[in-house]
Amino acid sequence: MARIIGVANQKGGVGKTTTAINLAASFAVLEYRTLLVDADPQANSTTGVGFDLHNITQSLYDCMVNDTPAKDVVLKSDIPNLDVIPSHIDLVGAEIEMINYPNRELVLQNALEVIKDDYDFIVIDCSPSLGLITVNALTAADSVIVPVQCEFFALEGLGKLLNTIKIVQNRLNPELVIEGILMTMYDGRLRLCNQVVSEVRRHFEDMVFHTIVHRNTRLSEAPSFGKPVILYDAESKGSLNYLHLAKEILQKNNLTKINQEDRILTTEHDDDSE
Ligand code: ADP
Ligand code: MG
Repeated sequence: MARIIGVANQKGGVGKTTTAINLAASFAVLEYRTLLVDADPQANSTTGVGFDLHNITQSLYDCMVNDTPAKDVVLKSDIPNLDVIPSHIDLVGAEIEMINYPNRELVLQNALEVIKDDYDFIVIDCSPSLGLITVNALTAADSVIVPVQCEFFALEGLGKLLNTIKIVQNRLNPELVIEGILMTMYDGRLRLCNQVVSEVRRHFEDMVFHTIVHRNTRLSEAPSFGKPVILYDAESKGSLNYLHLAKEILQKNNLTKINQEDRILTTEHDDDSE
């Protein structure tokens, strides 16, 4: 049965989509059956793994609003082991349309329940909001990754997000855990970045992933080619960072396949080269 991981932060531009795409692709490359669920109406995860929005006839919107079975909406990507539930701009309206649904917070959980056995990991890319769709994602999830950009206002808004997670834990999903806080867009040349990492580590201690995602232009270029970075430039720092993150999560949850043990990295990439 899949481990469902939400990627959430109501701040935009912190690296949610980049993390969702590249973590999902890393799991897939490590031969774990993976489903990427795009729960953001902007559909950046959908296009980032190579789908043309013009060709998408059914999306997460149909699963959530029209009761379309998830199986009918799943698309196979070009990457072995990686399937996608695409998003659509229609999803913007879903929150209003679902307002009178009974158990409206459980819609995504119920939709994914039927396909959970087909995967090892389901990664959900959330929108920059704490609205109903994100609450659905947190309710469906076993764990949540919180990307935090290495910048001055890094911790701003984090309290609100953690509070929402707490509410979901109390009322909807007591099993939900924080998989980790992920520092993104790290630039070792900047003192500020190092200060932010130290501050977040001091504050959140073990909740912060060892893996730090560096600022890397390959990560920002890859989506325009419709590819996760591991297919665009496998040797790039961004690619290695996300592979490292996947392995850290596998190790943390004791999910490592025996033959991968010796390939698990323990070092952090903290030099500055791209
Ligand atoms: P979110 O989904 O939280 O809004 P994105 O993942 O879309 O954030 O990232 C915002 C922008 O920053 C995008 O243009 C993305 O390509 C870029 N970006 C994200 N992570 C990195 C990184 N580690 N290095 C360089 N650019 C990045
Ligand atoms: Mg996004």
